[in-house]
Amino acid sequence: MKNLWDAAEAGKCTTDLELRVYSSRLLGRDDTLVLHGGGNTSMKVKERNVAGEEEEILYVKGSGWDLETIEVNGFAPVRLAPLLKLAQLETLSDPQMVNELATNVTRTGAPSPSVETILHAVIPHKFVDHTHADAVLAITNTGDGEARIREIYGDDVVIVPYVMPGFELAKVCAKKFSAEAKPSTIGMVLLKHGVFSFGATAEESYGRMIALVERAESYLKQQGAWDLPVAEKPVAPKSVRLELAALRYDVASAAGSPVVLSTHSEAKFLAFAQGGNVREVSQRGPATPDHILRTKRLPLLGRDVKAYAAGYREYFSRNASRIKEAKTMLDPAPRIILDPEFGLATVGRSAKEAGIARDLYSHTIDVISRAEALGGYHVLSEQELFQFEYWDLEQAKLRRAGKQPVFAGEIALVTGAASGIGKACVEALLKRGAAVAGLDLDPQVATTAGSRSDFLGLQCDITSEDAITRALESAVRTYGGLDMLILNAGVFPASRPVEALSLEEWRKVFAVNVDANLTLMRECYPLLKLAPGGGRVVVIGSKNVAAPGPGAAAYSASKAALTQLARVAALEWGRANIRVNILHPNAVFDTAIWTDEVLRARAESYGLSVEAYKKNNILRTEVRSTDVAELAAELCGPTYAKTTGAQIPVDGGNERVI
Ligand code: ZN
Repeated sequence: MKNLWDAAEAGKCTTDLELRVYSSRLLGRDDTLVLHGGGNTSMKVKERNVAGEEEEILYVKGSGWDLETIEVNGFAPVRLAPLLKLAQLETLSDPQMVNELATNVTRTGAPSPSVETILHAVIPHKFVDHTHADAVLAITNTGDGEARIREIYGDDVVIVPYVMPGFELAKVCAKKFSAEAKPSTIGMVLLKHGVFSFGATAEESYGRMIALVERAESYLKQQGAWDLPVAEKPVAPKSVRLELAALRYDVASAAGSPVVLSTHSEAKFLAFAQGGNVREVSQRGPATPDHILRTKRLPLLGRDVKAYAAGYREYFSRNASRIKEAKTMLDPAPRIILDPEFGLATVGRSAKEAGIARDLYSHTIDVISRAEALGGYHVLSEQELFQFEYWDLEQAKLRRAGKQPVFAGEIALVTGAASGIGKACVEALLKRGAAVAGLDLDPQVATTAGSRSDFLGLQCDITSEDAITRALESAVRTYGGLDMLILNAGVFPASRPVEALSLEEWRKVFAVNVDANLTLMRECYPLLKLAPGGGRVVVIGSKNVAAPGPGAAAYSASKAALTQLARVAALEWGRANIRVNILHPNAVFDTAIWTDEVLRARAESYGLSVEAYKKNNILRTEVRSTDVAELAAELCGPTYAKTTGAQIPVDGGNERVI
């Protein structure tokens, strides 16, 4: 545990609130303290309102903000006095609490105050920091966690038993604090939940958090409970893509919507998934309750998704019947899957969500392993966890995420993705919520879409069957399957009359424009068959299929062959619920194949200037890569759900085609 406070950086802050932002970000940077929106911080300050009256304001982290990236506007200013009165009430329902918090915020447009706002209010220190530190959880999540915490910290912390976050927890903390806090007290440990620190300055409160967690880490080391297990068996190099796609299909069926399933076969995950006690320890529950929203209470062990979903339904009805308000069951699909063969797989409606689940579970493994080494991993009861999972205030956070995009949870593969129509297709699909694997001969493909979790750029020579197999394996390990295939890569050789066309050149064009696409279609077919919403293939053909041009024999013939291949696939694959459609673009000049030389030659062969040639169509319009890409994406969407085997021109209108 390292104290990251930098006096020079901190010196740039001109207000306490800026310091609050600075030290919150320091906490956020350490993923052993907080992860993905976890934890919260606050500050109390006196301000004058518009009437000139002085009032005390609590600046508390707004819901939906992440400590790592929080800004001044991420803190909600709430009047402190009414919060302290609320803490005196015997009871306060969640809707009442939410209403009171919202109506005491002093700035319109501020985020909703954290659900732990009242708790921050009742701690009588200017700065308050709260994390879910792994090391503290590893100690509190044991049978004798409380005694160990007492042994480590003495009177330096107040110990609070687990209470559901929100109003109840704030009340218990207030009571415990006023009864037990000593002058030396610098923090509070919430059993099976996390740790608070506080102080008069941002630096003091932050420093105390680091010191408290450091002491927990040292304790774990002293107890021989720090080192994590190592993998016994390395990853088997065998192909797993069909197994993974089948697993994803089952998970999506249980979830009722397509999902991204990301596989993580690092040594740590394999070690845990292959561990002798995994059946037991993984089935106890999460390290801290707020993980449950992303990881569910339990991981799936192995691949029987149906049994997992049945178990989840039983868990829901068992617990829902115990509480008075009606609850609607969340989807019963697992979010975490442990398998001795591939290690860890995580599930989400997007690559980002699957990534969050991975991060949370990675830290859960650390906590479990260390707590086990201390004498045994203990978690909250099933009822307590259910109460948190189905807590309205937590459900509301998920609902705030809004409507899902059309391709949420779906995976697309685009060839020729580094430039032109392929790159535009990547963008069109990402925009609609898909995760995209982009293939290209050009290594630049790795960064086609920048660095983001929903794009995987793979250098791949599609004329090599091995290279295609490797790319598919990698795409499926990353995202779980394949729903959409955009066959875009192609070559357009320099103009050559038939009498001068060598067989070698002809074959080179066919190798990319036809043969490679056959390999791709054949290898993708079993994956597309397992697409939860049906597979979709879009083939980028050419105007030249219907209206070839002189000098373009190899190109025109190869695109015609590709078109026939796609038409036959449309006939054959309908029974597997795979749609195959063809776009015939023409004169798309912002692509890699249109070098100046080719452009000039083509224009010349029609007796036109380059400018006139560009708009030489019925609509007198220029056709761009994005025009083709948008239509390709739409062809994969619900508007064309009943269309297969179609050939659509994207050419501004061409007399010879019409
Ligand atoms: Zn918390």
